Amino acid sequence: MNPIESTDPALWQAISDEQKRQETTLEMIASENHVSPAVLAAAGTVLTNKYAEGYPGRRYYGGCQFVDVVENLARQRATELFRCAHVNVQPHSGSQANQAVFLAALSPGDTIMGLHLDHGGHLTHGKSVNLSGKWFRPVHYTVDAKTERIDMAEVRRLAHEHKPKLIITGASAYSRLWDWAAFAEIAQETGALLMADIAHIAGLVATGLHPSPIPYAQFVTTTTHKTLRGPRAGMVMTNADWAKKIDSAVFPGLQGGPLMHIIAAKAAAFGEALKPQFKQYCEQIIKNARVLAEELTRRGYRLVSGGTDNHLMLIDLRPRGENLTGVLVETWLQTAGIIVNKNMIPFDPRKPAETSGIRVGTPALTTRGLKESHMSQVADWFDRAVASQGDARILEHVRADVAHFTAAFPLPHITVSP
Ligand SMILES: *Cc1c(COP(=O)(O)O)cnc(C)c1O
Repeated sequence: MNPIESTDPALWQAISDEQKRQETTLEMIASENHVSPAVLAAAGTVLTNKYAEGYPGRRYYGGCQFVDVVENLARQRATELFRCAHVNVQPHSGSQANQAVFLAALSPGDTIMGLHLDHGGHLTHGKSVNLSGKWFRPVHYTVDAKTERIDMAEVRRLAHEHKPKLIITGASAYSRLWDWAAFAEIAQETGALLMADIAHIAGLVATGLHPSPIPYAQFVTTTTHKTLRGPRAGMVMTNADWAKKIDSAVFPGLQGGPLMHIIAAKAAAFGEALKPQFKQYCEQIIKNARVLAEELTRRGYRLVSGGTDNHLMLIDLRPRGENLTGVLVETWLQTAGIIVNKNMIPFDPRKPAETSGIRVGTPALTTRGLKESHMSQVADWFDRAVASQGDARILEHVRADVAHFTAAFPLPHITVSP
């Protein structure tokens, strides 16, 4: 019996319901994944008890000799994985990793430039409701209306016009490769610093399946829980010139005690990511995404930019029906056991609470063992749910089929008895 089960049945009920939900549905949210048993176990250790403000060898608390080993393992593995000069593994989240760069490199009122949220960018890249948009002066570049790829001519024009202190690259809903060299050239021309936020694609970058920004950007930030398949958290990579400033921005600038159990889980995940099987996993993510993109296109969906180079795709629902919105389709799919999120598409005429798009990704499905051969079935269920127009009986049929199917692909920490 799990100790929570006996001491706190209400809490245990919610946790087991969530586990059941994950087991019986197709997780297609592009930013989610299922961690390994080792990562999950590390996050649930006594390391959560430990205060360790400071850095290995320079702590403000006694008793840190073993958590120092843990943090050093995480740092060594991250620098090996990404071939960077310095890494800070303490940020609690991707957003805090980005804030650490802002604190280290910017002053309030400085101009920053990032991809527009509606074109795939992230809240922390200068959106007005976020600290990054309130404390700095944001300028946003967009994708080209025709190609739906980043408009590098516009990036250059805006950078020369606004002279941003920091150019932010990276995205949450962009399915194409980033040309880091081209951004670095523009940053150099205009005297800007360059930051690459690889939160989504970190696993693909670590395995060399997406070009790495490390040689081009002063700052590379990431989450550790998306394609990298670690615990929910963030980190910042930088060069020798900025190492000290980044470290003091994270602590004491932004955070107090680091989450040592989560840093242990990061070390476990980075260890896994250094193994050859992780590269095979990331290759499979991309293969699955390509096939899923073809299967959806064949069923009349339009993909933003026409397809994908990475783990995700942005689906424009409009060609499949005038009344379809992201919010409606997200709800129908959820009833059918397919979990996605509504998403703005570039130049979306609808509001963010409605949207014309759905974002889907293959990292979590791939972790569960789905291959290219399963993508046509996934696209079929997806399409049946969309075509149902919310018909409860059809959605229930799909849900039952999905639940039956997923039983053959257990979550990584579930051991199946033969
Ligand atoms: C997910 C994401 C983040 C934020 O990560 P949190 O851990 O949710 O704070 C930052 N940047 C990009 C591009 C992301 O996709």
